[in-house]
This record gives sequence, structure tokens and C-alpha cells, in this order.
Amino acid sequence: SSASTPIRATLFPGDGIGPEIAESVKQVFREADVPIEWEEHYVGTEIDPRTQSFLTWESLESVRKNGVGLKGPMATPIGKGHRSLNLTLRKELNLYANVRPCYSLPGYKTRYDNVDLITIRENTEGEYSGLEHQVVRGVVESLKIITRQASLRVAEYAFHYAKAHGRERVSAIHKANIMQKTDGLFLKCCREVAEKYPEIKYEEVVIDNCCMMLVKNPALFDVLVMPNLYGDIISDLCAGLIGGLGLTPSCNIGEGGIALAEAVHGSAPDIAGKVNILEPFDVQSAMYIISFSAGEESAYVRPESLFKFSLGRGSSHLSYPVVLYIITVGVDLLKRINIETCLNLANPTALLLSAVTMLRHLELHDKADRIQNAILSTIAEGKFRTADLGGSSSTSDFTQAIVDHL
Ligand code: NAD
Repeated sequence: SSASTPIRATLFPGDGIGPEIAESVKQVFREADVPIEWEEHYVGTEIDPRTQSFLTWESLESVRKNGVGLKGPMATPIGKGHRSLNLTLRKELNLYANVRPCYSLPGYKTRYDNVDLITIRENTEGEYSGLEHQVVRGVVESLKIITRQASLRVAEYAFHYAKAHGRERVSAIHKANIMQKTDGLFLKCCREVAEKYPEIKYEEVVIDNCCMMLVKNPALFDVLVMPNLYGDIISDLCAGLIGGLGLTPSCNIGEGGIALAEAVHGSAPDIAGKVNILEPFDVQSAMYIISFSAGEESAYVRPESLFKFSLGRGSSHLSYPVVLYIITVGVDLLKRINIETCLNLANPTALLLSAVTMLRHLELHDKADRIQNAILSTIAEGKFRTADLGGSSSTSDFTQAIVDHL
């Protein structure tokens, strides 16, 4: 990792809040002197016939060549004749395992303060093989595919991960008592791999019992490995244990050692690109924003205190003249505030922590530790937090605070 030969990595800023949070990552990496040179690729506006999707062939080649990349959220455009962006990436790059570290963030209180687990999800087959059809009218069938090859591959990765990260235990999550053939084969493969790693404890837990145990005491688990559908559900459940999707990183592992890190949340269209709504800037746009914010749990439009107070779900309790007054004051304020202040609301933590998993994959542990500690102490200190964590900091103030903690 010498400073003279930077490592090239692909960056997909993505859609919605993607470019804003990707900017945070670039800034933090710059300030921490991370020897990475980003090769940026945006999702295209036309279908590339070579990929049958809005992702260009060149952008996929970039990941194949670099072997490592970071991806912001992508919003798949609605319409026929193209493949979903995430599906294209998964298939083209053969991303067979999705790894999500999930740990309690000190200083950010949730119901649990002892979470420290890793979910590893098989990402290519199982219930998500896309093989569904109608048998006769009123009867449909969906095929769950489990192969020895894919099961061994993900089990191998889980044990390799456990060993490389000093973890003690791998739990295979299943429902083999009912799905005897499919989950049965998955377990058989896990057992085979477990035999090669005698230093790692191995156990099998039925999925329903696993859910109960996770919400009762997440500390019961260490590394969890499971087929596609279970992994989809359990990994989101685990994100909920530590405070939600704005905080959880993930990394996709592909054939040939490719690592594509990504935040698990989406493009957050409700808080992204407000600038489009504000132009042309007039009373009508302001009213639109106000009514838009009224439907949200907390109003994101700044100055947030005013709108949070007046236009949250509780606004029905306010009398008509009070609402009218608040709207008048609000419109006046909106006229005076800078358009810029309406952007910049997203929490970059999930993408930053995903970038950290990418650094760990590259074995740049010093840089990874430095950045991770700066993020965690910024959140723990509590002076700068974004709105989703109950604070009022902008993306850039929060990012600057992280830089100051480096
Ligand atoms: P979402 O994750 O975009 O948003 C859910 C809620 O969480 C919203 O209220 C949003 O404001 C909030 N949120 C999400 N990330 C946040 C962040 N970093 N900081 C602060 N708040 C945050 O989910 P959605 O609305 O269901 O999906 C929106 C779009 O994103 C859809 O087009 C969907 O297909 C796409 N999507 C993409 C991915 C991906 O690329 N991996 C994943 C999920 C959804």
C-alpha cells in the first residue's frame, strides 16, 4: 500500500442521495490519505444492449479489472425491456455472497447495546432464482434451487471470513426440518466445510428459532450463513437491531475475488434532489414541499424545527389559523434560505462503513481502523448527527466532523 502506486477502485455514485454520500466518502478518503484512485461510473440514461440494462459494459469491465469497487444506491427505472441494475451487477459479476457486519454503535442508543454479528447471505439462487410459472389457472409454482456448488462456495466464504476476522462461531440458518431436500443439501455442504475448520465452532439453527433468539439476545450469534431468502430477511432484521438502514454497510463477494461494497439502503428519493422541486422558486413550489414533508415521520425541509413542529403527523391537532400562520412564516423562510440547504440531508454513514469493508478486503486495516474510529467517535460524541439519527446536521457538516476526528 505504498503511496506512489495508488490502488484503482470503481465508484458508482448511484442515484438520489448517492452522489451526495459518495462525495463524503471521497472527502474522508482524501483526508485520511487512503491510496485509492476512484474510477467513477454513472448509471446510463439508455439501455446498453451488451448488458441489457442501464449499466454500461465499460462500467462492469472496470469492476472486473480493478477487482474492487464501491456502489451507492441505484434506483431501477420502471419499464420493460431491461434488467434491474442490482440484478445485472449480481449476475454479470457473479456476486455470490452478501456480507453484512452489524454492530452496536457506541453512543447511539437502541434497545440493544451488545450486537456484534455478521450475516452472510447466498446471493445467486434459492428462492430468488426467478423460476415462477402458472401450472393451471389458480395454481402457481415457484422453484427454489439449491446447488451443491453454490452452497459450498458460500459456506467456504463464511468459514474463511470467520477465521480471517478472528470470529469463533458459524451458525447455519435453515428450515431443513420442512425443506428437507433443499435446506438439507445446504446444511450438508456447510457441515463438509466445517470439518475443514475445526478451530471454528459450527452450529445449525432453525430460522424461526433464530429470529426469536436474535430479538431476545443478539449476542447469542457471531457469524450467520444462510440461503438467499432467509439472508434477505435476517440481514434487515439485524440492521434494525442497531438503528436502521442508514447505518449498515455491506459487501458483495464475487467470483475471482471481486469485492463490491454497497450501502444497503436505497436512493432515498424523499430526501434527495430537493433542488429540483425548488426550481422555479416560488410560493407554489414551497407549498409543494410543505405538503410533501407533511406525509413524513419528521419533516426534512429546513429550517427543520419549524416544519417538524407544524407539519408532522400531529398537524391535524392544530387549528386552521395556526396552520395558516405557520405556512405563511414557512414560505417566507423558504424564500430567504439558500437552495443548497435543502440538499445535504442524507446520512453517509452506511456508505462510509461500506467503504471501510472495502479497505479491509484490500487489507488496508490501518486506514480502515482510522476511518471507522472517526465515524464511531463522531456519532458517539453526538454533537453532529443527521436527521435520521435525531440530529440536525447536514451531510457536509457531519462529514467535516468525521474528518476532524481522523
Ligand atoms: P430507501 O432506503 O431509499 O428509503 C427508505 C427510507 O429511509 C426513506 O425515508 C429514506 O429517506 C431513508 N433513508 C435511506 N437511506 C438514508 C440515508 N443514508 N440517510 C438518511 N435517510 C435515509 O428505500 P425505498 O424508498 O424503498 O427505495 C427508493 C429507491 O431505491 C427505489 O428505486 C429502490 O428500487 C431503490 N433501492 C436501491 C437499493 C440498492 O441500490 N441497493 C436498495 C434498496 C432500494
